Amino acid sequence: MFPQLVDTNTSISLKLLQQHIAECAKLSIGYPVNLDFDYTLLLPFLQYNLNNVGDPFVEGNFALHSKEFERQSLNWFAQLYELEEYWGYLTSGGTEGNLYGMFLGRELYPDAVLYSSRDTHYSVAKAARLLKIPHVVICSQFNGEINYEHLEYELSQRKQQSAIININLGTTMKGAVDNIERINDIIQRLRIRFYIHCDGALGGMLLPFIQEAPKISFRDYPIGSISVSGHKFIGSPVTYGIVLTRQPYVKKIETSVEYIGSKDMTILGSRSGLAALFLWYAIQTRSQHFHKEVANCLQNARYLRDRLLEINYHPLLNDFSTTVVFDKPAIELCRKWQLATQGNIAHIVVMQHISTQKIDQFIDNLLVNNQLSCFSTSCL
Ligand SMILES: *Cc1c(COP(=O)(O)O)cnc(C)c1O
Repeated sequence: MFPQLVDTNTSISLKLLQQHIAECAKLSIGYPVNLDFDYTLLLPFLQYNLNNVGDPFVEGNFALHSKEFERQSLNWFAQLYELEEYWGYLTSGGTEGNLYGMFLGRELYPDAVLYSSRDTHYSVAKAARLLKIPHVVICSQFNGEINYEHLEYELSQRKQQSAIININLGTTMKGAVDNIERINDIIQRLRIRFYIHCDGALGGMLLPFIQEAPKISFRDYPIGSISVSGHKFIGSPVTYGIVLTRQPYVKKIETSVEYIGSKDMTILGSRSGLAALFLWYAIQTRSQHFHKEVANCLQNARYLRDRLLEINYHPLLNDFSTTVVFDKPAIELCRKWQLATQGNIAHIVVMQHISTQKIDQFIDNLLVNNQLSCFSTSCL
């Protein structure tokens, strides 16, 4: 327990915060964040500032780092995505990985236009804005997947310009997976210059562990880069992410930006060496069970969908996804269970810490709430 660190003026206290967080964590089912982890073995490293500043493949002068662990973790991901000559680094999160992907695409094709679906995470549009990349938003299908006909139409309107295409491997709201093969067919047919970035914030850790899911393979497809969040499926006390690309691409733009006198190609400077240890530790202790973790989440997501179906909440559960979308419940309930909402829909992302018991508890809560609101709106 904490010593009594209380600011009497503002009544802020660590103890109260800890209690508050512990309570909220029990009801945290709305966001794609795995709360089921234990990194206590790494506590001794909290005594130091581990900073993996700059390129993970260059040791640098600062000795307090964990770059060997970062490299081993990156190597694990490179194998997962069948990427042989790779470069990458641990980012501050999925957002930085998307920014890096857009940056690389723009550096390789300065005339490029970005194409991404309406259901794409807002970080992609932000990256386009930061980098001043013209951005064409493509319609989505009802399930959140990109509309391929619309994509083909918009691409065909600008065949002389290069294209940066963002592919969602699990959209934020509906967990929809854009089909790499179909998109690849379209660009090959149109014969345009292109760069593909995959946003795999959550799905980047789901698809490889689902047998029937489309492969995320740099060997089979001309993918340029992929971004994955570390604090989502893997889970971590600090937020971070992973970005990977083809090493020859980085080599190309290294020379083109030689004037900065460094081959430091990360977007940010200082980077968490602790995050690298969390990731490495998770891979060491859990990678053999990732299949099982994903299978459990999928099974519980189907259970949640079925229960919501029974009570007429119109659930939607995409293939290869653990995100269950349904009619937005009463606002008090959304707040209590920290549900993410969009218009008249809400979602629950079934992560490792969400058991069937928790799902039952939520459904009971939903039913009681319905009865209450029924009384108050005088159904009787
Ligand atoms: C969460 C999410 C992001 C952003 O990731 P952060 O790690 O929160 O920066 C990007 N894309 C998708 C699809 C996401 O769900």
